[in-house]
Amino acid sequence: MRHLIQSTYIFRAFLVSLITLICIKSVPAQKKLNKKRSENKSEQKIILADNESSRYNIIIPKHATPNEIKAATVLQEYLLQISGTALPVITADKRKTSYEIILGQNERLDELASPVNYKFLKEDGFVIKTDSLRLIIAGGNEKGTLYGVYSFLEKYLGCRMYSPKVKIVPQQKQVLLGTIDDRQVPVIGFRDTHYRTTWDAEYTDWHKLDHDPTGARTDWGMWVHTFNELVPPQMYYQSHPEYFAMVKGTRLPTQLCLSNPAVLEIAVQNLRKEIAQNPAAKYWSVSQNDNKDYCTCDRCKALDEREGSPSGSIINFTNQVADQFPDKMISTLAYEYGRHAPKTLKPRDNVNIMLCSIEAYRHKPITDDTSSAEFVKDVEDWGKIAKDIIVWDYVIQFNHLVSPFPNLHVLQPNIRFFAENGVNAMFEQGNREVGGEFAALRSYLISKLLWDPYLDIDSVMNDFLLGYYGAAGKPIREYIDMMREELIKGGKPLRIFGSPNEAALTYLTPVLISKYNQLFDEAEKLVSDSAEILERVRIARLPLMYATMEQAKKNFTGESGLFEKVNGNWEVKTKIRNMVDEFTDLCKREGVTQVKEWSTSPEEYRSAMYRIFSQGMNEHLAYGKKVMLISPDTAGINAMELKMLTDGKRGSHDDDNNWVIFAGKDLEAVIDLGSVEKVRKIGSGYYQLGFWLRLLPTNVEYYTSVDGKKFDLVETIKNTLPIDQYGGYLREFNAEFAPRDARYIKVRARSMGNTPGWHPGAGRPANMLVDEIVVE
Ligand SMILES: [Zn+2]
Repeated sequence: MRHLIQSTYIFRAFLVSLITLICIKSVPAQKKLNKKRSENKSEQKIILADNESSRYNIIIPKHATPNEIKAATVLQEYLLQISGTALPVITADKRKTSYEIILGQNERLDELASPVNYKFLKEDGFVIKTDSLRLIIAGGNEKGTLYGVYSFLEKYLGCRMYSPKVKIVPQQKQVLLGTIDDRQVPVIGFRDTHYRTTWDAEYTDWHKLDHDPTGARTDWGMWVHTFNELVPPQMYYQSHPEYFAMVKGTRLPTQLCLSNPAVLEIAVQNLRKEIAQNPAAKYWSVSQNDNKDYCTCDRCKALDEREGSPSGSIINFTNQVADQFPDKMISTLAYEYGRHAPKTLKPRDNVNIMLCSIEAYRHKPITDDTSSAEFVKDVEDWGKIAKDIIVWDYVIQFNHLVSPFPNLHVLQPNIRFFAENGVNAMFEQGNREVGGEFAALRSYLISKLLWDPYLDIDSVMNDFLLGYYGAAGKPIREYIDMMREELIKGGKPLRIFGSPNEAALTYLTPVLISKYNQLFDEAEKLVSDSAEILERVRIARLPLMYATMEQAKKNFTGESGLFEKVNGNWEVKTKIRNMVDEFTDLCKREGVTQVKEWSTSPEEYRSAMYRIFSQGMNEHLAYGKKVMLISPDTAGINAMELKMLTDGKRGSHDDDNNWVIFAGKDLEAVIDLGSVEKVRKIGSGYYQLGFWLRLLPTNVEYYTSVDGKKFDLVETIKNTLPIDQYGGYLREFNAEFAPRDARYIKVRARSMGNTPGWHPGAGRPANMLVDEIVVE
C-alpha cells in the first residue's frame, strides 16, 4: 500500500458512527407542520435584498464559535456580491427585529416552536429554514453552520464553485426566498478526496471536505504499517527472534508474533510514549507492515484458524492495545492477508478498521462485478462487526494520469455501497498531481457524492458541464456517455493500473477516437468566442491526445502508428509530431506536473517522444531476426515477447509498452543475422523507474562471432545511474567500434538480482526492462 505511505494528504477524522441513512431527507411530520405554518402566514415572502438595500441583519450567537463567525462573513460577502448590499453582522444580545438571518447555535432559536436538534446534526449537519420573515441556518458542532451557508448559497441563490478558479455568483436585483425547510446530515462523517482542488481552503469548505489545506494530519498520531515502529526489529530481532513472525519455520522480522504477550507489552509501552508526545491526535495506527509474511507459530495459527482469517490475531492484538487507550481510536488495516473479517471476534468500539479497494475493477459497480465478490463480502462482514470503518478508494487511472478513464458511472453506486455497510469515513484517492482527466469534474462529483450518495448525479454532472464548459458542455457530455457505453459494450475490465492500449479494441479504437475528436471539434467551435472556456475544452481533450500518442508509440506503424512510409523512408507522421508539442504545451499551461503517478513531467514526456522520433523506425541488421535466449530459461518469457527485442519498436515511459521484462535475472541472448555482415555498432535500450523496482542492468556486454561458436567480447558498458534514482530514466547502452565481420551477436545484460533491504523494493527481484537490440 505504497500510496498510503507516500500520499501527502491530511487526515482529520471523526468518531462518528452513522448507521442509518438519514441524509438529505426532510422529516415528513415537520414538513406537514411547516406547510401549515406557511399557509397561516401565507404570502409572507422573504426579500433579503432589493435594489441594493436590505432590512436584514445577520445574527450570530453572543459567544459565536470561529466557524460561526466565518459562516457570517461568508454569507455577508456573497450577499454583497449578489445584491450589492452588505448586511450588518450583529450578536444575538442586540435588539430583535422581524428581519433577521439567524446563524449558528443561536440564543434566538431557543424560542422556536420546534427547536433545532443539534445532537441529531452531529458535527457537520445543518438546517436551513424560514420562520415567518426570518431565515435560519444552524448547524452541528464543527462546521455545520458554515456548510449550511455554502449549501444555502448554492441551492437557493444559484452560486457555484466548480473549481478554485471557476466560481459563479449570479447577481440579483431582488433576492427573494420562498418557504424553506431543509435538513442535511451526511452519512459519511469523514470525507476526503485527493485532488489539488482540495488545497484551496474555500473549496474544501464549500464542498464539505475534511481536508486540511495546510497539510497537517492533525488527527492521526501514527499512520499505516506501524508494526516496525512499535516493535523495532533492529532493537529486538537479534535478542528476541520469537517476537517476530514465524515464516515457513523461521522467525523473520517481516511481521510481529501477535500472540506473544511480551510483544503486546512493548507495543503498548512504545505507543504510550508516542501518544505522550502528541496527546491531541485521536487516531493511532497499530497495523501490519507492507508484506505478506505473517506469523504462523502454533498460537497465532490456532487463533487464525479459529477465526478463519489472519485478521483473528490482528484484531485480538489490536483490541488489547485499544483497551489500554480508551480515549483514543486505534486503527488497524484490513488489508491483503488480513482483509477477511474474523468469524467471532469483534473490534472494540475504539478500534478503527481501514479497508482498501485497490484490487477492484472500475468498469462496473463493485457489487455487480463478480471479481470483486470477495471484497464486497469483506466490506459487508466488517460492516456488521465494526463501529468505525474507513475505506480508501481509488478513482483514476494511476499509470496514466492524463488518460481516458470512463469510471464516472461507478462512483455513485460504490460510495452508496460503502455508506450502506457502516463505512463512516472515506478517502477517494484521485490525482495527487495537478491536472489529470476531468480533474475538476471528478473532484466536484466525488465531493458531492461523499456528502450525499443519493443525489441526482446526472443533473449535478450536467450542471457542472454547462457551468464549466458553457455551450461545449453538451458535446462533452456526449463524449462521456459514448465512451462509457463503448466500455460496457467492450466487456473488458477497467483497471486503475491499466493503459489506453488496453482499450485499443474496446472504447479507444481508431474509429471511436475519431468520433470523440469530432465531438471535441464541435465543442471547441461552440465556445470559440471565449478564450477562457476554449482553453478548458482543450484541456479536456488532453486525454484523447494522450491515448492517441500512446497507441502510436505502441504500434509504431499502421493506421494508428507513429511512422508512415514516405518515398520509401519511414517518417514520423506530422499529425503526431504536432500533437506531442500541442499536448506538452497545453499540459504546461494547465500546470500538469506529471503524466504518470510517480514520474514523467510533460517535458520529459515530450523528450521521450522526441527520442523515439530520432531513433526512428530503424530496420537495422538485427531487425526481425530471431533471438535465441540462453539465460534466463524461457519459462517466464514467451516467443512473442522475445520478438519485441528485434521488432524495431522502442519503449518509453510506459513500462507495459514495447518492453521485455527480466525479473532479477541476467539477459543472455544470441541473434543470428543470417549472414556475415560488417558490424560497427551494437546497442540496447533500458528503463529505470526505481520506486517501482524497474532498474537498469549493472553492466552490458556485447560479443560478436562469425561461426556462432567462438565469441569475442567487443565491449562492456557499465551502468552509472544509481538505483536510488526513483524517477523515470531511459538509457541506451551503445558500443561503437571499427567495422568487423559478424554473423552472430551476443548480448549479456547483468541484472542486479534482488534489491537491497533499504530500497523500496526491499529484497525483491529487480526488473530489468529491455526494448530493442540494435545492430548496425
Ligand atoms: Zn505468532
